[in-house]
Amino acid sequence: MIPALDLATVLLLHKSSFFIGALCFLYVRWQSPSSHGLGILTAAFTLLAVASTFAGLGEKQALPLHVWTLSSFTVGTFGYAAFWIGMRRLSGGDRRPLDWFALAVPSGLTIAALLTGFHLDNLWRASIFQTNSLVFLMGSAATLIHDSRREKLSARYALTIAITVAAVLSLLVILGMTGSNAAPLHPRDAFFLLILCHFAIALFSLVFVKERVEATLTALLDTDALTQIRNRRWFFLALPAAPLAGDAFVIIDIDHFKRVNDTFGHAAGDIVLACAAKEMALNLRQGEIFARLGGEEFGLYLPAASNLDPQEVTERLRNAIQSLKIKVGETDIPVTISAGTAAASTGLPMHDLMSRADAALYVAKSRGRNRIEAYRVDRPSEQAAEQRQNISPAHTTKAGQAA
Ligand code: GH3
Ligand code: MG
Ligand code: MG
Repeated sequence: MIPALDLATVLLLHKSSFFIGALCFLYVRWQSPSSHGLGILTAAFTLLAVASTFAGLGEKQALPLHVWTLSSFTVGTFGYAAFWIGMRRLSGGDRRPLDWFALAVPSGLTIAALLTGFHLDNLWRASIFQTNSLVFLMGSAATLIHDSRREKLSARYALTIAITVAAVLSLLVILGMTGSNAAPLHPRDAFFLLILCHFAIALFSLVFVKERVEATLTALLDTDALTQIRNRRWFFLALPAAPLAGDAFVIIDIDHFKRVNDTFGHAAGDIVLACAAKEMALNLRQGEIFARLGGEEFGLYLPAASNLDPQEVTERLRNAIQSLKIKVGETDIPVTISAGTAAASTGLPMHDLMSRADAALYVAKSRGRNRIEAYRVDRPSEQAAEQRQNISPAHTTKAGQAA
């Protein structure tokens, strides 16, 4: 049920909804200075609050008719144009300088009002004002939806809904005022619901910015700063609690990486590491769990459900790295990798599966590097002997360390 409020209360609420909204935008801008559009949105809601104040003063007959009608119309139409500009920046984050041309719409309308005096007619003024609002609100909602392809945040959809409802209500106000029978709501009720939408828009904008910051932090937490692929933390969280029979664990290690550092310098080593990681990530598909475990070592987990042969997948990576030309300055730095794979059997704990892949990696290293070895369940002692032979303080694998 919509309460039957008197006009003075409705106007006060209308004005307050914009002022509170402006304060909300201002607060978020202060909290997240890197977010775009919030300053413009603060200005937009302030303009709309000022327009609403002029209209309120007019209703009380505190201002001459031509003054309050023209000022509330002009300031309000500029407010909605600014709202669209601000929302587009908030939505996409990137600056869109041509958007400022939208201010030509309220400028043109103001000039038309001055020339024709349509602002003195209640019906004309309100209809043109609400049409201007409708256009900029729908434009804002369309931008938010369009940008959802790049950035999916649930608050984006909530914000779009609030803005779309506000646009529909503006339409209902127009229909109601023009006496159309198609209007399912009395303009006064539509106006009241519009006030609630202003609060919702400010609230969801706040949630939107906070959700975006949270998503950025989560991505940072899971990303390896040097290689920009997933990190060890993410890898161990992404692994299933227990391996299913047929799942495969692969540990990949760059060969003689210390030599790269010693010969070309640590900075060149960093470039090689980042290029190799990127190349491997490019050669994998979604659903294959891959990350840098630490140093020059990478983990790959292939669920049985993916129906992929671990030897084949890893061979593809080995080939890709071998044919990679990593140019640092004038020098081409050759890189190869070795890998150990292990297939899970029923009841085998994850830690043991990982140790098997680790043991197989040592076998690959001791057999000359640039190769892939699968863990042989029928020859555990030989593999353990090869592993012991190769372990030196400088050569402990990251996977071998506790996860
Ligand atoms: P192997 O073929 O037996 O794996 O030999 P390796 O030289 O690759 O292995 P080793 O464990 O002896 O050396 C690994 C080197 O990787 C030592 C370490 O300085 C280097 N390293 C680890 N993390 C980074 C990094 O982030 N950047 C650079 N540039 N080097 C790193
Ligand atoms: Mg190595
Ligand atoms: Mg290593």
